[in-house]
Amino acid sequence: CGVFGVWAPDRDVARLTYFGLRALQHRGQESAGIAVGDGGTVMVRKDLGLVSRVFSNADIEALPGQLAVGHVRYGTAGAKSWEASQPHLSTINEVIVALAHNGTLVNTDELRRQLIELGVPFNSNSDSEVAVKLIGYFTQETHHLREGIRKTMELIRGGYAMALINENALYAFRDPHGVRPLVLGRLTSDEGVAAANAAAAASALPSDAASAEDLVGDEVLASTAGWVVASETCALDIIGAEYVRDIRPGEILRISAEGLVSEQGVPAAEKTAHCIFEQVYFARPDSIVDGKSMYACRYDMGRKLALECPVEADMVIGTPDSGLPSAEGYAFESGIPYGTGLIKNRYVARTFIEPTQELRAMGVRLKLNPLKDVIEGKRIVVVDDSIVRGTTMVQLVRMLRQAGAKEIHIRINCPEDIWPCFYGVDTGEQSQLISATKSVEEVCEFIGADTLAFLSVDALLECVPKGGYCTACFTGEYPVAIPDSFGRDKFI
Ligand code: 5GP
Ligand code: SF4
Ligand code: MG
Repeated sequence: CGVFGVWAPDRDVARLTYFGLRALQHRGQESAGIAVGDGGTVMVRKDLGLVSRVFSNADIEALPGQLAVGHVRYGTAGAKSWEASQPHLSTINEVIVALAHNGTLVNTDELRRQLIELGVPFNSNSDSEVAVKLIGYFTQETHHLREGIRKTMELIRGGYAMALINENALYAFRDPHGVRPLVLGRLTSDEGVAAANAAAAASALPSDAASAEDLVGDEVLASTAGWVVASETCALDIIGAEYVRDIRPGEILRISAEGLVSEQGVPAAEKTAHCIFEQVYFARPDSIVDGKSMYACRYDMGRKLALECPVEADMVIGTPDSGLPSAEGYAFESGIPYGTGLIKNRYVARTFIEPTQELRAMGVRLKLNPLKDVIEGKRIVVVDDSIVRGTTMVQLVRMLRQAGAKEIHIRINCPEDIWPCFYGVDTGEQSQLISATKSVEEVCEFIGADTLAFLSVDALLECVPKGGYCTACFTGEYPVAIPDSFGRDKFI
């Protein structure tokens, strides 16, 4: 999923959120929603479908406020339904909050039961709704929203990045391992931007790259027209916000007219565990983590792939769009010419995210068509980001053969996907993962390729910024324990 939040009293916050969500659309296409706080109350509008379909200009204009959160949903836990779309509202006594959540919580069944016993009503089976109702419940008990969030963070387990508003404050918080991403950005006032531009024109001034280790309080606010939090930096770019830093594991940020305050909600885990699949596939190529774009990471993965798994061939192609950066890297490192062998219909969205297998199978043919005159008679290296169920590759190889490819060598810029994700990426049950039951040779035969190779875990780790990563879907080493009650046995 994609999460966005903004506090900017002088700006059209619903519109900023709309654009932020447009930039995060790749993170989820099932539903979209925006909630605004106007000083008095919180209003939400959400529906199934793409951001551009859910919101008209009139809808945005009907959401005035000083702060907002938004969400695009990629269903993991829970079915595809209006009730499961976000932001989720909680209204318990006088407390009204709206929550946008990216991730999966693994221990919400028992918590939901306890809340229901306390008389708290539920509209969906979503883990996120349990989180927002817990926050609402503890807040009306303690009269402090930050305390409500802190207590909730102590109880919930899993990977989560959340943005939440009440009528006048925006909160952002992240699980102790930092599994799911969340960045902080700053909107400078128009005068500030004009001044900076003038200064930059006059001299080669470095930009104000405040590391913002501890941005607290009014001095900072004075030069700031607003604050933004988002799943990826591409959502800051689209609204002209500047990146400040990542939300830290276990941290709670509170942003309001009183300034920006940081608190360690729960202790950070000993080892961070950022989801490495963000670099492999999920995040947009122009999003940046620790100064390195996803594009650059993927390009490096392609280069490593060429070193680890070389092959003699006439041309390197990538599967659009997610395989293109690594295909470029592979071509560069191997010296084999790079070509365009597949044309993508740009009006078809991500196929993996279509929830049924039938739709997924249909999707590949809808989306990709080979360029016969480029492919015919050639030995082709095809680079793609990942093989999960094998749906894409089976059809792709067949199409390339029909287009006259002489040899087809598949290279995948991540290791074999063997373990299900429990932290917010829907790879389904282990039995559906083709590499869980088949060796590389067997998968190669199944998809009908001449050769097949995957990048090693070590090489993958060399392509991403230094730090602690979750690699559980490749290694089975889960950084956050999965309780038995989550039904781990149903997946593995
Ligand atoms: P498959 O067709 O093997 O089931 O899935 C792999 C394809 O789905 C790749 O082309 C990849 O780009 C795409 N994909 C989209 N979403 C996801 C996701 O959440 N996880 C994985 N592993 N691949 C995904
Ligand atoms: Fe990311 Fe894989 Fe870990 Fe899930 S299991 S959080 S997809 S690295
Ligand atoms: Mg793909």
